[in-house]
Amino acid sequence: MTCTTRLPKPVTEVWDWQMEGLCRGQNSAVFFHPDNERGYARAAREEKAKAICGHCPVLQQCRAHALEAQEPYGVWGGMGEDERRQIVSAARRRVRAYSSSTSLS
Ligand code: SF4
Repeated sequence: MTCTTRLPKPVTEVWDWQMEGLCRGQNSAVFFHPDNERGYARAAREEKAKAICGHCPVLQQCRAHALEAQEPYGVWGGMGEDERRQIVSAARRRVRAYSSSTSLS
């Protein structure tokens, strides 16, 4: 009999949490910046999106997904692009430091 435990989970099971996101049906322009948006406009838009995320029942799943998938754009799980990039970069630095400290060479 074929072992299927290493195969990816069914897509609907993996993505079901998105059905409960409070951003569903909202204007995506609140969560994703238009070209060349900078400064106050960007900060204000992100704060508006984060306020919605703050009440979202699937915030943790959304954040975990965005960090794992390294979503490059938009507000996910109450975090903006720069915040996610900082967390991913810090995790990479920790892995490199750990790898070099345990290297046998
Ligand atoms: S946490 Fe924010 S971006 Fe994620 S599903 Fe909820 S409302 Fe949408």
